[in-house]
Amino acid sequence: MLDPFGRAVTYLRVSVTDRCDLRCVYCMSEDMAFLPKRELLSLEELDRVCSAFVSLGVRKIRITGGEPLVRRDVLTLFQNLGRHLETGALDELTLTTNGNHLAKHAETLRKAGVRRINVSLDTLDAERFRAITRWGKIETVFEGIRAAKAAGLKVKINTVALKGVNEDEFDGMLAWCGDEGFDWTLIETMPMGEIEDDRMDQYLSLTEVRRRLEGRWTLRDNDHRSGGPARYVTVAETGGRVGFITPLSHNFCESCNRVRLTCTGKLYMCLGQDDQADLRAPVRASEGDEPLLQAIHEAIGRKPEGHDFVIERRNAVPGVRRHMSVTGG
Ligand code: SAM
Ligand code: SF4
Repeated sequence: MLDPFGRAVTYLRVSVTDRCDLRCVYCMSEDMAFLPKRELLSLEELDRVCSAFVSLGVRKIRITGGEPLVRRDVLTLFQNLGRHLETGALDELTLTTNGNHLAKHAETLRKAGVRRINVSLDTLDAERFRAITRWGKIETVFEGIRAAKAAGLKVKINTVALKGVNEDEFDGMLAWCGDEGFDWTLIETMPMGEIEDDRMDQYLSLTEVRRRLEGRWTLRDNDHRSGGPARYVTVAETGGRVGFITPLSHNFCESCNRVRLTCTGKLYMCLGQDDQADLRAPVRASEGDEPLLQAIHEAIGRKPEGHDFVIERRNAVPGVRRHMSVTGG
């Protein structure tokens, strides 16, 4: 599956629900209106769409949300998609989670074929965690992370860099990830969806964060590339890997290998653009996959060259109107 710019699409990210049991201040407003459940693709329909992508050359699937583990019976989706790992058609099945329900599901995820997971954690401080997530309990996430480790899952921690909120913790988080054997990724805030706070107040440039970390740690550029907006370094003192995700810079679009499916079956060819293709209609129109495969091909034929994000104070509207929880992180 090649797009008009010659990039192979090998990575599908699937948001299985727009709902979440937390309300991180940079992600959602407190009183979010969620989609009516009848609009969602069923788990069987999600499996059909994912499997169609695998048949077209997708090698990696990430399940995200919203919080993927709050969707009822979502583990059956992992178990069913695991068949593509067994046949070798798929290299990786993974998920991004807030960790709240990880303790009870880690073992099942591992058995379904999941080997690595991303857990989002913006602070190591219980009070701060509650403030950022509006009501979360950090101990529940720590329990989830311990369970994931015990189940043999490799954990990567995702942290959104928030000005004046967690910027004094980055040295401590880098050390903690090093001790625990976790890779760590720092993410710049992206202008997605209306929230109560001003995004400009939250935005912290990772160029600045990296400069500060370099005052204390030896960061060596690393060749590892994910095809996404992350640049990786290895920390000489811990041996751990740190990624910097800078979505507002354009320097990664030329290697973009991914598309995103929402829980209602909309396919977004770029996180930072509004163009989308409806895959729910072709899925429901026919038991056979021909209309679906054709719709996917048409959509990939429209994948844009790059995104249009801007964060500026005079730009009161968000860069894209949908929240991150719609298309997943
Ligand atoms: N609920 C899961 C979680 O928190 O990991 C999965 C979905 S969440 C939308 C995926 C990632 O996107 C999280 O790491 C979150 O911190 C990040 N995120 C959410 N809103 C964001 C924004 N506006 N800018 C940058 N990252 C954002
Ligand atoms: Fe929920 Fe994840 Fe968004 Fe936080 S970042 S509100 S955990 S979807």
